[in-house]
Amino acid sequence: MTQDDTDARAAALLHLGVDALSKGAARTLASTLTSTFHLPGDPVGVPGYGRMNNPTWEATEEALALLEDAPTRLFPSGMAAVAAALFAVLKSGDRLLLPSDGYYTTRLLAEDFLAPFGVTVETRPTAQFADGGFEGFALVFIETPSNPGLDVIDLAATCAAIRAAGGISVVDNTTMTALGQRPLDLGADIVVASDTKAPGGHSDILMGHVSSRNDALLERMALWRKLSGPIPGPHEAWLLHRSLETLEVRFERMCRSAHMIAERLAQHPRVSGIRYPGLGSDPGYAVARRQMTTGGFLIGFELESEEAAEAFVASCPLIDPTTSFGGTHSSAERRARWGDAVAPGFLRLSIGVEPVEALWAAIDAALAT
Ligand code: PLP
Repeated sequence: MTQDDTDARAAALLHLGVDALSKGAARTLASTLTSTFHLPGDPVGVPGYGRMNNPTWEATEEALALLEDAPTRLFPSGMAAVAAALFAVLKSGDRLLLPSDGYYTTRLLAEDFLAPFGVTVETRPTAQFADGGFEGFALVFIETPSNPGLDVIDLAATCAAIRAAGGISVVDNTTMTALGQRPLDLGADIVVASDTKAPGGHSDILMGHVSSRNDALLERMALWRKLSGPIPGPHEAWLLHRSLETLEVRFERMCRSAHMIAERLAQHPRVSGIRYPGLGSDPGYAVARRQMTTGGFLIGFELESEEAAEAFVASCPLIDPTTSFGGTHSSAERRARWGDAVAPGFLRLSIGVEPVEALWAAIDAALAT
């Protein structure tokens, strides 16, 4: 994956499907709100029913497939995509390895629903995935950079080790998006992502997707969707399609601003434990440079205490207190409030598209109070 390749895909995305338009057709995608299709006679090869097909999701899948460079299926949330990957692959008696420091809902899903069906769920810190030891795991789930600690692991080496041990690798790429990192190019079997974050970007929809170049795995996840029913709403799919047109410009601004702000936070006397994979001083920097096009738009850092971190978020007018990330507006939260194993004063800061000097002035002022 090179920046030129990513740029070419982002440019092509803005013209996707135009060749197929007939004269006089609308330039824009329709939001097809239908559960049923006109279906006389043989149903094969045409849209049949709203749980199986929808032209709006299919157009959104094509757009994501272009960015991922892989066949893609859309889901109504990131967790629906994660669930599809887990349930499509695992069966009773299998062992599943999850990061102990990744997005906590994935662990809860596995412990509450897969373990009772006879899947053995094991966890390990993301940084330890670099040591290998994947023998006997049917599925290894990876997050890099991990959420919220922003640890980075070498995807090519890790996915190769998982494959050599006979397992399937699933990479949650939510924190980077397909513009920042393409795990399938680095040997992953399945990519899952929450498009609720930067791809949707406007904090108005939930959505997710799975991508894979393994036809059998993709078909199985599509079958899971068809049979168990987690289908995206056509209008939400339409909103994501519209948002994807500006993803590249938003992502580029967010990541560039995040880099500048991370550099300044790293120098600030009140800030400790800064994590940003784009900083030369970050433990993940060398691997991040190899496998990511940017350091991303998320920054982790610590203030002295829970009270100090809460006061900082409350007093900064350009930082929203939200639990999501990747939106146009900058936002932050103390992850310890959800039980993540981080310091009480640890904040995950998501940088938005605000002009960077205005944003930094607000952050600097809030740190001074
Ligand atoms: N994966 C990661 C890394 C996340 O941060 C999230 C949500 O925060 C999800 C998956 C789940 O996405 P959603 O909230 O769209 O279900």
